[in-house]
Amino acid sequence: MTIGIMAALHDEIAELIGFMAHHGQSEIRHIGRRDFYVGQLDGHDCVVVLAGIGKVAAAGTAATLIQQFGVSHIVFAGLAGGLAGHVRVGDVVIADRLVHHDMDARPLFPRYEVPLTGMTEFRVSATLVAQLQAACQDFFEHHISNRISAQDMERFGLERPQAHVGMIVSGDQFIGSKQTAATLRDELPQACAVEMEGAAVAQICYDHDVPCAIIRTISDRAEDTAHVDFDQFLKSIASQYSSGILRNYLARLPAKN
Ligand code: SAH
Repeated sequence: MTIGIMAALHDEIAELIGFMAHHGQSEIRHIGRRDFYVGQLDGHDCVVVLAGIGKVAAAGTAATLIQQFGVSHIVFAGLAGGLAGHVRVGDVVIADRLVHHDMDARPLFPRYEVPLTGMTEFRVSATLVAQLQAACQDFFEHHISNRISAQDMERFGLERPQAHVGMIVSGDQFIGSKQTAATLRDELPQACAVEMEGAAVAQICYDHDVPCAIIRTISDRAEDTAHVDFDQFLKSIASQYSSGILRNYLARLPAKN
């Protein structure tokens, strides 16, 4: 069993890559302008890769993980904008289904349907969702205060963060205006969060029957100050959340035989 771990931005998985390299447990393979870190994390075989931003980058990288490394499943960790009213900065959303919010081949196909697949939503592995949810709860209850300073907790308003399971929508667009966020909320009222890669990864994994999960920390509310909130959050918090939750997830998996 080899686990593929992906992120869009360096800060989101910098600590995991550093940890693998520091313990001399990784080899780097360079394929298609990506560095794949192959090694062990917490006793499990993993391939960790920085996919880059957007759906094409994510889809291509997921396909390489599946075809070249034979990963048994893929976990994508990163940041997202919160859409639903109850989803706040510092919360985590774990996708149970994903939609390409920018897919629109009307009148040939219904809105959001990926042409010729009959699919509008891509479902992910319920087992992985449950495992990540437990890892996330554990992180909030036991680890967050060791990893993030009280000052940063206060600065980003991270008191009592929640883990939500729900719909994530993806598109090749950074959503950073009140109006665009409101349109998305109207058109996809069940969407909890918006980002730029998840649905593409879920679609590739569906094509290959590889289970996957997408877990996102909410960095901004996808409204007018989104770019500022996003940059500050990325530098101070993102890596701590991703590494903390993913290390918990790996630690809780049964040891390999
Ligand atoms: N400032 C960054 C670019 C960030 S793009 C840079 O210069 O490198 C935003 C990334 O975070 C994407 O990978 C996307 O998946 C996620 N994301 C966070 N907030 C988002 C939002 N409001 N809309 C869309 N994607 C968002």
